[in-house]
Amino acid sequence: MSRVLIVSADPVTSAQVGAALPDEMYDLISDTDGVHALAKAAGIEGACDLMLLDRQLVLDDVSLYERFIDRARNSEVPLLIIGPATAPHEWARLLHEGASAYITTPIDADALRAQVAVFMRAKERHDQLRAQAVIDELTGAYNRRYLDEQLAARLAEALRYGAAFSIGLVDIDHFKNVNDTHGHQVGDLVLAETAGIIRHQMRKEDLLARYGGEEFALMLPHTDRLGAAILAERIREAIAEHAFVVPSATISITISMGLASFPLDEVGNDAELLRVADTRLYEAKRGGRNQTVFE
Ligand code: GH3
Ligand code: MG
Ligand code: MG
Repeated sequence: MSRVLIVSADPVTSAQVGAALPDEMYDLISDTDGVHALAKAAGIEGACDLMLLDRQLVLDDVSLYERFIDRARNSEVPLLIIGPATAPHEWARLLHEGASAYITTPIDADALRAQVAVFMRAKERHDQLRAQAVIDELTGAYNRRYLDEQLAARLAEALRYGAAFSIGLVDIDHFKNVNDTHGHQVGDLVLAETAGIIRHQMRKEDLLARYGGEEFALMLPHTDRLGAAILAERIREAIAEHAFVVPSATISITISMGLASFPLDEVGNDAELLRVADTRLYEAKRGGRNQTVFE
């Protein structure tokens, strides 16, 4: 369901928009006050997918109009301006400034519905491409690039506020054996299923990324060493106990994990945090695998 925000002081315009957009496809939020509407649009991320703004409302308030334009630009939410028929150079100027379309009043229901549908299709495509750019296709986990981005930003935040923050690096034990015995395709299936099992144990705020071939990274904001260790053990046990049913065999695997946790680990940036986790992952391997090292 797409959320459409209509901002107009004119009840007739709002009603025409409401009549044009079918209830079963659009969740219409209506507001008569521009400042209030902006707060709504900015409130929750993705709070609306498209904005319709009555030009009358901002004719005498350039700064309010500019805030709508800024909002549209910064969030990639299309801004459609509604107003009376006007000279092309007039509405063209609005489009140059950042509006996505100019809708003339009285509103034609068919035309508006078609226009809005075009923008929704483009947004869907945009969201799809965005997902493809950040998600690893085989495992459904985030990719390394996205992890790097998020880790830098979220850890910097944690360092600034002194909030707990943990990272875990996971490496599947003797994974070469799985490939050698059952083939690379079966290896791929096991990898994908492993990602699913790990994610199942994690919270919504946590992030799972594919860190390398058969390595994963867990980013755990607001999680201290104890919390991270408990989660890591839960994941390690879940994997060790799982029977991976693949064509022609049932496979068991184990994982090793290294954890690093701010502030107990006195790191100053993401590279240092990863280095600590990586060293501990190596210790977990040396210590006999199927274990978590967290200090
Ligand atoms: P250990 O980590 O316990 O030391 O042993 P390992 O056998 O897992 O060794 P290592 O981590 O060095 O090797 C990783 C293996 O994972 C080698 C590679 O063939 C396999 N691998 C990496 N990426 C993929 C992948 O996308 N699909 C499959 N099927 N295998 C992969
Ligand atoms: Mg490896
Ligand atoms: Mg391995």
